[in-house]
Amino acid sequence: MPPDASSNDACLAALKAIVGERHVLTDAVDTELFLTDHRARYHGKALAVVRPSSTAEVAKVVRACADAGVAIVPQGGNTGLCGGATPLEPRPAVVLRLDRMNRIRALSPAEETVTVEAGCILADIQAAAARQGLLFPLSLGAEGSCQIGGNISTNAGGIAVLRYGAMRQLVLGLEVVLADGTVLDGLRRLRKDNAGYDLKQLFIGAEGTLGIVTAAVLKLFPAIRSRSVAMMQLSSVEDALALFARARATFGERISSFEIIGSSYMDFVLRYVPGTVMPFAQTSPWYLLIEAGDSQPDAPLAAAMEGFLAGAFEAGLISDATIASSLAQEEAIWKLRHGVTGEFKLAGKTMSHDTSVPVAEQPAFVRRVEEGVLAAYPDADVMMVGHIGDGNIHVVVLFPHERFAGSDDFEAASDAIDVIIDDVAMELGGSITAEHGVGTTYRKRLARTKNPAELALMRQIKALLDPENRMNPGKLFLPGAA
Ligand code: FAD
Repeated sequence: MPPDASSNDACLAALKAIVGERHVLTDAVDTELFLTDHRARYHGKALAVVRPSSTAEVAKVVRACADAGVAIVPQGGNTGLCGGATPLEPRPAVVLRLDRMNRIRALSPAEETVTVEAGCILADIQAAAARQGLLFPLSLGAEGSCQIGGNISTNAGGIAVLRYGAMRQLVLGLEVVLADGTVLDGLRRLRKDNAGYDLKQLFIGAEGTLGIVTAAVLKLFPAIRSRSVAMMQLSSVEDALALFARARATFGERISSFEIIGSSYMDFVLRYVPGTVMPFAQTSPWYLLIEAGDSQPDAPLAAAMEGFLAGAFEAGLISDATIASSLAQEEAIWKLRHGVTGEFKLAGKTMSHDTSVPVAEQPAFVRRVEEGVLAAYPDADVMMVGHIGDGNIHVVVLFPHERFAGSDDFEAASDAIDVIIDDVAMELGGSITAEHGVGTTYRKRLARTKNPAELALMRQIKALLDPENRMNPGKLFLPGAA
């Protein structure tokens, strides 16, 4: 039965009875923040923003919404970069915020596991692990506000994937509320479990379209007690890959981050991000940031880094380098890589990409993308930055504010640039989204580039788990497209 005003009212009354009146927000002033995405590109509409405090309440909320035919858009910290947590469909929906579910249920140093609720802020989990001399290695620019449920649902990556893997590799067990309100209790702390399909992996990276993540068991690791952070200047992406092979030979699995910054992105950071300082006398076409860490307090990492850099100079792979000698210097170097939050808006209109290609294909990717975009849009500023150790270079195309007369022109240019970049990525065996997910922004690109058999199977799984299409409808898949 299609929902009407009276069933919406009944639904709101049921939700208030479940979570308490003050946790069902309906006033525009209270909900506005949660109805706009991080990039302020999408502005949605919802019957209410609902804030349950337990898995049992989530299950009841889901059942009440099912009874009323109301859709559910789960939301964590709302830091996602592709409009996945904004309700944009015309049908009635509630935004389900998990922020009150922020308890750490258990932490076992012996097992190196932590059991957390979905609304835990990522930085709080890192801090809880650190207090026990352990490490939760997921780390990204939004870690002070994103939530672990959002990290799981986007299969977040960040700066330490090279060593520890993305979210998919960090989850041991998962608790999920399904579309009919069933609680799928998979909170197992097992390192090995071959008893049938690994169902948790279906929900990791599903962006809330298959169910609501309410809790998870995460892997912890020994804390890093010695660290060396260095930045160097180099002239090409080929040289960066040669340095990657050398760094692997020197540090083995102790390299956690291997990040590249193009000159144009560096110029942008130095100009717009307060408190950033160039550590070199000259500029250069590319910059590389390496972090290596060891769980032993007195590991001779600084000496190894000096040896690595001396060899790189001798081989003509780098022109200058600096090694951080204090925590403040480490932070200053990392700020050049991680410091950008909302500053793109100040500089102009940007189109951001999150492509991945096989590691060895990155020189071709960078060259062909630059050539392709500049041939079509000679006035574009093509900035590159990313996790070169993971094959994930973010391309940010910047235009001056006044460049586009109307939003249609901007959308048309954005679509054309997407096609240029995606075609290169597909020819090189890549993916249109390495770590941000699909959400709303990348749906058209997913439909255009994903293998049709895989896309059809994804739709079948969605139809099986969410036959009424009420779990974050309109995300991942283009409505109506085959
Ligand atoms: P939200 O934005 O609230 O939601 C994201 C998606 O997950 C939505 O589809 C939402 O419906 C769904 N969702 C949220 N919670 C749940 C739940 N409990 N159950 C089911 N579905 C849910 N990402 C990276 O991977 N690597 C980076 O290096 C990185 N750097 C960033 C830097 C900055 C400055 C910013 C602003 C973002 C960055 N991101 C990065 C993107 C973003 O932080 C991640 O995607 C993060 O994982 C989103 O978490 P969130 O809690 O904010 O989720």
